[in-house]
Amino acid sequence: MCGIVAYLGEKKAYPIIIEGLKRLEYRGYDSAGIALLNGKMQVLKKKGKVSELENHASEQLENYDYSMGIGHTRWATHGVPNDVNAHPHTSNDGNISIIHNGIIENYDSIKKALIEKGHVFHSDTDTEVLAHLIGEIQKTEKLPLEEVVRLALKKCVGAYAIVVMDQNDPGKLVGAKFSSPLVLGIGDDEFFLASDASPIIKYTNKVIYLNDGEIVTIKRGKGYCIKNLSNETQNPKVSELDLKLEEIEKGGYDHFMLKEIFQQPTTVATSMKGRINSKEGWAILGGMKPNIARIAKSDRIILTACGTSWHSAMIGEYLLEDLARIPTEVEYASEFRYRNPIIKENDFIVALSQSGETADTLAAIKMAKAKGAYLYGIVNAVGSSIARETDSGSYIHAGPEIGVASTKAFTGQSTILALMALYLGHHKGLIEETYFRKLLAELESVPSKITKILAKDDHIKYIAGEIKNASNALYLGRGYNFPVALEGALKLKEISYIHAEGYPAAEMKHGPIALIDMYMPVIVLATNKSAYEKIVSNIQEVKARKGIVIAIVTEGDEIIKEIADFIIEIPEIEEPLTPLLSVIPMQLLAYHIAVMRGCHIDQPRNLAKSVTVE
Ligand code: GLU
Repeated sequence: MCGIVAYLGEKKAYPIIIEGLKRLEYRGYDSAGIALLNGKMQVLKKKGKVSELENHASEQLENYDYSMGIGHTRWATHGVPNDVNAHPHTSNDGNISIIHNGIIENYDSIKKALIEKGHVFHSDTDTEVLAHLIGEIQKTEKLPLEEVVRLALKKCVGAYAIVVMDQNDPGKLVGAKFSSPLVLGIGDDEFFLASDASPIIKYTNKVIYLNDGEIVTIKRGKGYCIKNLSNETQNPKVSELDLKLEEIEKGGYDHFMLKEIFQQPTTVATSMKGRINSKEGWAILGGMKPNIARIAKSDRIILTACGTSWHSAMIGEYLLEDLARIPTEVEYASEFRYRNPIIKENDFIVALSQSGETADTLAAIKMAKAKGAYLYGIVNAVGSSIARETDSGSYIHAGPEIGVASTKAFTGQSTILALMALYLGHHKGLIEETYFRKLLAELESVPSKITKILAKDDHIKYIAGEIKNASNALYLGRGYNFPVALEGALKLKEISYIHAEGYPAAEMKHGPIALIDMYMPVIVLATNKSAYEKIVSNIQEVKARKGIVIAIVTEGDEIIKEIADFIIEIPEIEEPLTPLLSVIPMQLLAYHIAVMRGCHIDQPRNLAKSVTVE
């Protein structure tokens, strides 16, 4: 969470940092701040969006002639979002400023010790404690900034990506990372540090993804140097970014979320590219290929994830057990890592994360690695920590996802899981050849079928208008559509703030039916052929209690049309692939309801995109 951007070079730092913060705003947006250095340091901070900081800065900034600086957009963990708690924070003497993404878990004991030494704190943050600690070590040790930062970090427990600047040591930026991401951008006589590459790409495509425990020092005119916490010089790999500026812009859409929903025919096709051929009859994931024999013999597959990725993991469970007949479990990463799970060497652990930086998922795989399991990553962000920590994996290649509510990453992950199940099931000789080829062809048809659903946007918008004032909503699905019901409810909660629950349709009778009245919209995913009559009965049960039924049905369904208040038709598809289609109306419905309620679509209340704290 939170966005970090820092610049050192020949250009004016202020506009570069502000623009960078806007690009990173999806990571956190409760307050923002900037520190600029040109002989003297100027620190400006403001509660709210980056635009509020900009307004404040235009009144306060003494001049714009700064060629280095650091900026931050915050997602509060310690202390409410206000001007004082916003970053940058400064040392006791005000000479050092710092921006931080993460949590310093032992901040309290450090703070108490510093207070005893006379330090005065102004904010409630853990970050200010680190700023003071660095200042204190500098005062006593009289060492260069990078050395002082290293000694301070050795006393800290927790997660951090930081950038530090000292007005008594001008022309130098020190960055460090542990468990939160930090990227170094290398331009011509200019350097950038950022949480991801989006603020950098306009200026250079040469980057270094810092590893945990690395400290980078950038010196004007001298370049950069990376060391680890033991002070050993590192030999980092310079990567070339494969990212275009237009990929991180709205491209004419009102919101990133809408752009990302409409990109799905392309992104799903890209997820499959080179991995499937129905005519030749194969599905393959390059990351699995060298170890397919070992993976196919796994005793168990464990899919671990958080949030929307956890829902696609559930679809994975249904697919892998159905098609590859390997016992599969889905684990919330935050529970998995702390509950002393049984993990054996013959387990195949799959971590799913859009950003590849999700703190709990990352920690879960580190724990599983220590127990000897084989680790696989399904991530979107290229070069991210989970991509690097796993033994192998598959990128979903959906391109940057900026809307906080995940859409194209969900369909990308679900596509990879379908390929994984098909590949394993076929390798094990478990899927009859004609059915296998049929599933492959059906998977290849998903992009054009999504396009057909997207063409119903106006109809979905109309339904959104009919239920936009609801206070609660219920989402029901069976089989492959159950995880989609969970995902539909999550989308609505996230961006419209309407309370919503997803349930297996049959479970409705065991509780949630008590909630149904004439004000309750019930979204029923009713495309399953295998349990069709049962779903029709569930719809009847809702209607008998006057609930408002919005049913997602297969094209041409005449029965549910007669009972439901509204229907949204989706093209027919083999049942294991249904989620790739049935989730699209869920996304559009949540989007339109949230727009009609005047909500912040891309930056919903209290949320942030990349959850890098536990
Ligand atoms: N823990 C720090 C704070 O609450 C940093 C949070 C963040 O990553 O934005 O200020």
